[in-house]
Amino acid sequence: MRHDDRRDGPKLPAPVNGPGGGPGSGPGSGPGSGAVNGPGSGPGRGGRGLGVGTYPGTVMPTEVTETRRRVLLAKPRGYCAGVDRAVQAVEMALDKFGPPVYVRRQIVHNTHVVSTLEKRGAIFVTEVSEVPPGAVVVFSAHGIAPEVRRDAEQRRLRAIDATCPLVTKVHNEARRFAAKDYDILLVGHAGHEEVVGTSGEAPDRVRLVDGTEGAKKVQPRDPSRVVWLSQTTLSVDETAETVHALRERFPNLADPPSDDICYATQNRQAAVKVIAAQSDLVIVVGSPNSSNSVRLVEVAKDHGAPAYLVDDAGEVDERWLDGVATVGVTSGASVPEELVSAVLGKLAGCGYDTVEEVEAVPEDMTFALPRELRPSAAAGPPATG
Ligand code: SF4
Repeated sequence: MRHDDRRDGPKLPAPVNGPGGGPGSGPGSGPGSGAVNGPGSGPGRGGRGLGVGTYPGTVMPTEVTETRRRVLLAKPRGYCAGVDRAVQAVEMALDKFGPPVYVRRQIVHNTHVVSTLEKRGAIFVTEVSEVPPGAVVVFSAHGIAPEVRRDAEQRRLRAIDATCPLVTKVHNEARRFAAKDYDILLVGHAGHEEVVGTSGEAPDRVRLVDGTEGAKKVQPRDPSRVVWLSQTTLSVDETAETVHALRERFPNLADPPSDDICYATQNRQAAVKVIAAQSDLVIVVGSPNSSNSVRLVEVAKDHGAPAYLVDDAGEVDERWLDGVATVGVTSGASVPEELVSAVLGKLAGCGYDTVEEVEAVPEDMTFALPRELRPSAAAGPPATG
């Protein structure tokens, strides 16, 4: 799909394999057009598929004893390349500099990831003003506004920027269009960290558009000079509706040069659509503040299955399984695979001991480490300022 051809924003299924390059090298780089996947399969670290398997110790407590109980496990699911990179950045910073390593905001939106890193010596803060001068600070995968970088410089912090390269790409687009005096209609959720960071690139040019209602109300300076950009973790279908509503009001609305909804979000939504259509129930593993995880629940519901979000296996309510033959399982882009395995274990204990992995889109993306942690930066991040 060429972006020039697109009239209503992104559509699924249209993840594009192959070229585009993928980010590969930190800030400033980005994919070509469309969702980008390399060949091969399986998400990054912690996300290897299980294939078809059988779990022992089965009991049959619910009503569907005569129906084959099974799990359909979505692929891809779980860790995306940006989350893998961000978590590795904190782990490597802890190894290299020793604790404490400060992290501005949750490095990724997952409760278990954050608590695991805390146990290793990471200290999560809300603002850099809480970090002692000269200390090491990691910026989260969701990105930061330029003023945060300036604050870190003033405090002479040793900053490691774990902003996902695909978020950086949206920042770059915002700066570029602002420099051309466009108003930027940023489709996203008010208050989300990524939206705050992107808006900070051009605060007097960015207008937040939160869904179709927002599209009806937004008031740009010049309706003929507007472009839409978006948060990376939105629902593809809802965003298409919002962009359609914007285009009805602003026929000259320009498109972003490439999809802002990232490959991982698109691919996980494509996969959950496939399993939801064949499942009586879908369980999404993810934290409530994870935008892409919440979107997976919504997409599953839109495709015909009741769906629940659980942070871990302990939140699976066995009453949901009454009368259910097929359970779909997937996980958000910030979820370690061991949490999915624990949910599968719980389901196996309820008789859902056959797991069929359903691959909707091949995915094999990796990003280079933040430059401050690459081998060439042997001395680590310099004190800024
Ligand atoms: Fe990057 Fe997408 Fe993962 Fe966010 S969900 S960290 S934008 S790859």
